[in-house]
Amino acid sequence: MTTEETAGLRQIRRKRGWIWFWVLSYIPAVWLARHTIHSNIVDAIVVLIWAVGFIRSIAHGMFCRCPRCGGLFFSTHGSPTMWNLLANKCMQCGLPLKAERIIYPSLE
Ligand SMILES: [Zn+2]
Repeated sequence: MTTEETAGLRQIRRKRGWIWFWVLSYIPAVWLARHTIHSNIVDAIVVLIWAVGFIRSIAHGMFCRCPRCGGLFFSTHGSPTMWNLLANKCMQCGLPLKAERIIYPSLE
């Protein structure tokens, strides 16, 4: 595995981490906004910021390029899709997302 592949995989993992951040932060963010500042406008602003961040992170994940084959990492057919964002390997060439954790690469 080359250093470019390692850096590319790290970048993909970071983008997926942002998706999880936005998914897991929705309820705490809305709860905080609702119980600290009792205003529907603030609630709406928090939800709007959350939605923009969530959609942006999904879009970044959809367009991730595989550092080995150059194809879309989470797409099985070459066009961007959000259905495989939780996949642990490249859907084009099978490069594992956590390749440095594989002890026996010949068995992959
Ligand atoms: Zn690939």
